[in-house]
Amino acid sequence: MRFYLDERLVSQGAYEILRAFFREEFERVSFEVLESCQGFFAALWFDENTEALNMVVSDGVDIQRESIGLKTEFSSGLKPEFSSREFKLKQRRLVYRTASEFCGRNLPWGLLTGIRPTKLIAQEREKGRSEEGIRNYLRDVLYVSKEKIDVIFRVDAIERPFLESVQANSYSLYVGIPFCPTRCSYCSFPSYARNQHESWVAPYLDKLDQELRETAKLFETWTLSSVYIGGGTPTALHADELRRVIRLIRSYFSVLPELEFTVEAGRPDTLDDAMLKMLQTEKINRISINPQTMNDQTLVRIGRSHDAKAVVDVFHKAREFGFDEINMDLIVGLPGETKKDFEKTIEEIGKLQPDHVTVHSLAVKRASSLGANAYHHEHEELWEGTDRLLYRFAEENHYVPYYLYRQKNIVGNLENVGFTRPDRVNLYNVYIMSDRQTIAACGVGAVSKFVYEDHIERVANAKSIPDYLKNMEEKLEKKASLLTKFGEYDINTGKFIDSNDEDE
Ligand code: SF4
Repeated sequence: MRFYLDERLVSQGAYEILRAFFREEFERVSFEVLESCQGFFAALWFDENTEALNMVVSDGVDIQRESIGLKTEFSSGLKPEFSSREFKLKQRRLVYRTASEFCGRNLPWGLLTGIRPTKLIAQEREKGRSEEGIRNYLRDVLYVSKEKIDVIFRVDAIERPFLESVQANSYSLYVGIPFCPTRCSYCSFPSYARNQHESWVAPYLDKLDQELRETAKLFETWTLSSVYIGGGTPTALHADELRRVIRLIRSYFSVLPELEFTVEAGRPDTLDDAMLKMLQTEKINRISINPQTMNDQTLVRIGRSHDAKAVVDVFHKAREFGFDEINMDLIVGLPGETKKDFEKTIEEIGKLQPDHVTVHSLAVKRASSLGANAYHHEHEELWEGTDRLLYRFAEENHYVPYYLYRQKNIVGNLENVGFTRPDRVNLYNVYIMSDRQTIAACGVGAVSKFVYEDHIERVANAKSIPDYLKNMEEKLEKKASLLTKFGEYDINTGKFIDSNDEDE
């Protein structure tokens, strides 16, 4: 299929919608005169003379055409700004309607691509819209299906009380460990196969020590809500190395005894008795064991060095060591898998009954080896409806969805969703997904987030270890300067300014 997109329109959103409908690998080409288009094509262009936005889809026989006269849609006489939100929305709606009419089907998520749906409804609520008004807006303007609107409101109902109780000057801490036993083919995270980069471990941990110490000083008067050690695979470190990181955190930061403290154990092949014992002794109260799939052939295909049995064994062992909060990550749409394989995976996971199940839908990123090899999903339509399977599994096993996000180029146009037992919500995930709490992030690839009343600023640490070793201090300075924007922090003294002192 050829797509002719008027480059002035520069709409990634429109592009994503077309892709979701036609599921083709296509290139964006510069606009050409329609007469020269032949066969199967879609075109989107702005006509200067009539000041109309036009969309046409054709397979050479049937043609679906729609046009919006923007002159009348926008304030009279003014050309629409192609970058304005209003224009982009109109354009996406036009593309959606035309493609949907042509294909004879709808997209369950409508115009929502690459967005956190619950964030959207929170924004609408802040504008004063009622639940009914928001539901109508999602259905009539953004073309979201009733099924998905219901999911969004279910997630919203669970996460809202936690978000409403976020205190001012509270924050969560993220610590990144960029090592793994091997590199998975779909992975785009900054992470290194440990056995090939052994000599980087010690300098990395020393630099991380320094960053943790300095970060703790910056946040000295703030209240810590949760800690999350992720990566990478933190347990790719040896037990004594990871113990050091955990103890550094406890010694520099004010970690209350009951605070949620997660270690993403990730790969079952890194969880031997010594590691589990250490994590238990260090009072880690939440771990994640991430099989992604319970099919051995797929595990080999994606570059894992363990089988499904290892997942089961490690899970039971972790329970024996007393871990009563275990998450398991799964991926829908792994290379070579079908819906049947995924069905088998959730059946196996159901037998284990973890406390949380997080399900991602494969999104191929350029930084992964799949992306580098131009992998694309075959027969993507086969994955449609997997969400129904998943929500049925959740219902039968008493899980509720508690966070939700969508990504671009996601298999089957599905969503990523975190399920939990109703009383076991993981605070860190809720905070990070909602953009409602400041996150102090340390280590390679970690992104700190400063949440102000009216906007958010981010500082991304280096994505490679050599760069991190070189410029960690620079990023730290940037973080310190962003803290001053909260208006209360004095970068010179490292203390918050007491307004009474200021008066004196
Ligand atoms: S275990 Fe996770 S972080 Fe490590 S390579 Fe695989 S997907 Fe990437």
